[in-house]
Amino acid sequence: MNYTRSSALFAQAEKVIPGGVNSPVRAFKGVGGTPIFVKEAKGAYLYDEDGNRLIDYINSWGPMILGHAYQPVVDAVVEKAKKGTSFGMPTEIETQIAELAVSMVPNIDKIRFVNSGTEACMSAVRLARGFTKKDKIIKFAGCYHGHSDSFLIQAGSGASTFGTPNSPGVTQGTAKDTLLAAYNDIENVKQLVEANKNEIACIIIEPVAGNMGCVPPQNDFLNKLRTLCTAENILLIFDEVMTGFRLAKGGAQELFNINADIVCFGKVIGGGLPVGAFAARNDIMNELAPLGPVYQAGTLSGNPLAMAAGLAMLTELNNDAEVFNRLAEKTEYLHKGIAKVLNDNHIVHTINRVGSMISVHFDASPVVDFATAAKGNNDTFKKFFHGLLNEGVYIAPSAFETWFITDALSYEDLDFTINAVNKVAKTL
Ligand code: PMP
Repeated sequence: MNYTRSSALFAQAEKVIPGGVNSPVRAFKGVGGTPIFVKEAKGAYLYDEDGNRLIDYINSWGPMILGHAYQPVVDAVVEKAKKGTSFGMPTEIETQIAELAVSMVPNIDKIRFVNSGTEACMSAVRLARGFTKKDKIIKFAGCYHGHSDSFLIQAGSGASTFGTPNSPGVTQGTAKDTLLAAYNDIENVKQLVEANKNEIACIIIEPVAGNMGCVPPQNDFLNKLRTLCTAENILLIFDEVMTGFRLAKGGAQELFNINADIVCFGKVIGGGLPVGAFAARNDIMNELAPLGPVYQAGTLSGNPLAMAAGLAMLTELNNDAEVFNRLAEKTEYLHKGIAKVLNDNHIVHTINRVGSMISVHFDASPVVDFATAAKGNNDTFKKFFHGLLNEGVYIAPSAFETWFITDALSYEDLDFTINAVNKVAKTL
């Protein structure tokens, strides 16, 4: 494929934007080469500035669950825009989307909207600290909860791709309050809790990790965390920025039948516009300003365009009970197809999948945490990525990311992809 125009646009961007991008993983640093500049997208396809068509397995890192430029979402945004784009005052649509979200997600009474997943997680932790009157938090190596200071300790996603999981600029003071555990290792968490008795405000976790590739919770890990948190007066925060409204209507809480104390959302809840949210039961949410003393705010929070897109998206997901099954079936089909052709070509690999989240790791051993995710062969991944790109299939430009399946994918698209993997596998 030809990427002449993308290359030229990237060179131009590099002069005025650090690294040419507004979010690091877009720069292709993990895989080499020039990032692709998107011109437009529709359904399951991206169209780039050079006129190439790519089947999209990133889908804006999750939110385009029903496909790009999904008509009800586009219509809702266009209609809203004609009536003003921001007021910084209450609007009825904020209550409408809040009511719908509260009805779809188990175990929450109130929800507050923010502008990104980062804000949602940052605010959730502040709320947990304010509510429990404790300072320390536990996070898991390889989990990513946005780029606020407390979370840039062994963070996943782009932070891992670039080998900077601990960012300069995060003070020692902040870092010391973030304790790090290994995903799926309950004994490790218990030791930390024991060593920091009555000091831990919350444990934050991606209930299905998506930022070290896809890593499912194992051996009843989430249930064990729930029991531990309840016993120790620690709030359990599910970061459902990726899993929310994707794995099930009620996200991972519904899928695994486990109640978290605070739930964070992003991406899907905004239908592709910049939105995040955090939610909990009344006694926790009532601690937030203006009801309570924990401060949190935002000029553009609850922005009418974002709320219109989000309401349209959630309404579709709420009305189509089959969508989550369809997504899981398509992903399973892809999983089986890719596994078969990789096996046929004797490529050592492990595939992890939960619902419509899937990732391919180039290592034979099970991938259960960050240490095992990091063992994957990155050279093979780079060739795999560029090979697929050349065939017109776009996966995330990092081995530490998950593929997000969209309902817009047809079985022909999936067969095309499996065939592309087969061709690429012969070159690995
Ligand atoms: N939490 C998780 C689980 C995420 O995957 C992400 C982003 N990929 C975030 C938080 C941060 O969201 P945002 O990029 O919208 O700030």
